Amino acid sequence: MHIVVSGGAGFLGSHLCEALLARGDRVTCVDNLSTGRTENLRTVEDHPRFRLVLADVTTWVADADDHVDAVAHLASAASPPDYHRMPLETLLVGSRGTENLLELADRHGARFVVASTSEVYGDPHVHPQREDYWGHVNPVGPRSVYDEAKRYAEAVSMAYARSRGTDVGIVRIFNTYGPRMRAVDGRVVTSFIAQALNGDALTIYGDGSQTRSFCYVDDLVRGLVAMLDSHETGPVNLGNPSERTVASLAELVVALSGSASDIEYHPLPQDDPTRRRPDITRAREVLGWTPTVGILDGLKRTVEWFAGRPEEVREAAEALTGGQPTGRDAVVTATPVDALADHVIVARGDSGPSTRLDERLAARPAA
Ligand code: NAD
Ligand code: UDP
Repeated sequence: MHIVVSGGAGFLGSHLCEALLARGDRVTCVDNLSTGRTENLRTVEDHPRFRLVLADVTTWVADADDHVDAVAHLASAASPPDYHRMPLETLLVGSRGTENLLELADRHGARFVVASTSEVYGDPHVHPQREDYWGHVNPVGPRSVYDEAKRYAEAVSMAYARSRGTDVGIVRIFNTYGPRMRAVDGRVVTSFIAQALNGDALTIYGDGSQTRSFCYVDDLVRGLVAMLDSHETGPVNLGNPSERTVASLAELVVALSGSASDIEYHPLPQDDPTRRRPDITRAREVLGWTPTVGILDGLKRTVEWFAGRPEEVREAAEALTGGQPTGRDAVVTATPVDALADHVIVARGDSGPSTRLDERLAARPAA
């Protein structure tokens, strides 16, 4: 199968590209590197069935002759500091980007899976969250650029399914963590791990009694692949139902990383959900999917991965002090890439298999 993965240079997308190539698919990754990075593609960049298209999915026009069997639409900022820093881009990739890729899937009669989020439930009044709960979302709060973009992405996907018969699948992903997240990402698992490894204080927002349910990346990717292979419309929750407080996560990270870090408290960001836990009955029933990696094992693997990147972890220290950055204060963490408008295709063998993808990009002439 030929599968287009938007956002394939990001955390989840790069693991998905890897899993699809491993089972024999051909993969076109489309990414603008706004929060992704080419080093996430190290394991696949020279694979003969892999291709990276550097493009913004809100304007990308796919090659009409290249048949597509499935589209996995993962492109979007996902970390709160990222979408606070890029509010308009986040709304656009959820709206126009989703429409653009739905058109592509519709033209090819392809399967279309969109990565929605537990954020569509907002600060939920129903616990745990089942897919038939409509949510409690502030449409004008700071998180709304992400929440409403994803709600629109779901709505437009359903409109294509109903009006055009497009083979749509919606997955609502709950907090997922693992290797290839950026140390400066700003999400809680990476921040706590980087802070612990640096011996800095762990920054808890609020009193730490808010809960999340953390899923390890390998489990999540299995769920995404199962959704791609099915004709299930969903929405289907994908996440690990094991729920814990942010305070207990902090304790666990300190213990696992053998750190002597203190805890520091900062204001709870506006509209920060109080609790979150997926009901995964539907995923079990329609996809036969269930997560298998527990938090101890998953965190250990993630701590080890970050411990192997001391420079990145050290460099993140300054960005991770204080409370959650918002709006113009948010730290710029993106890979600077110019000349994206030309939709560069960086195919395998561009300048020899021994050249790294990031070196090839750097060697491109400026626009
Ligand atoms: P990420 O930031 O690591 O990856 C997102 C990728 O999308 C990046 O590579 C980025 O460069 C790319 N991108 C963004 N806008 C783009 C555009 N306009 N054109 C092309 N590429 C673009 O985030 P992630 O954690 O890997 O999340 C992937 C998807 O899963 C997102 O849609 C996110 O909303 C969803 N999701 C993730 C989680 C999680 O916990 N990781 C939870 C819920 C939903
Ligand atoms: N959080 C925290 N300290 C941090 C980063 C996040 O206490 O350094 C909290 C945040 O306020 C939220 C939870 O951890 O309650 C999860 O935050 P994250 O940004 O990872 O994901 P989301 O809020 O989107 O679930």
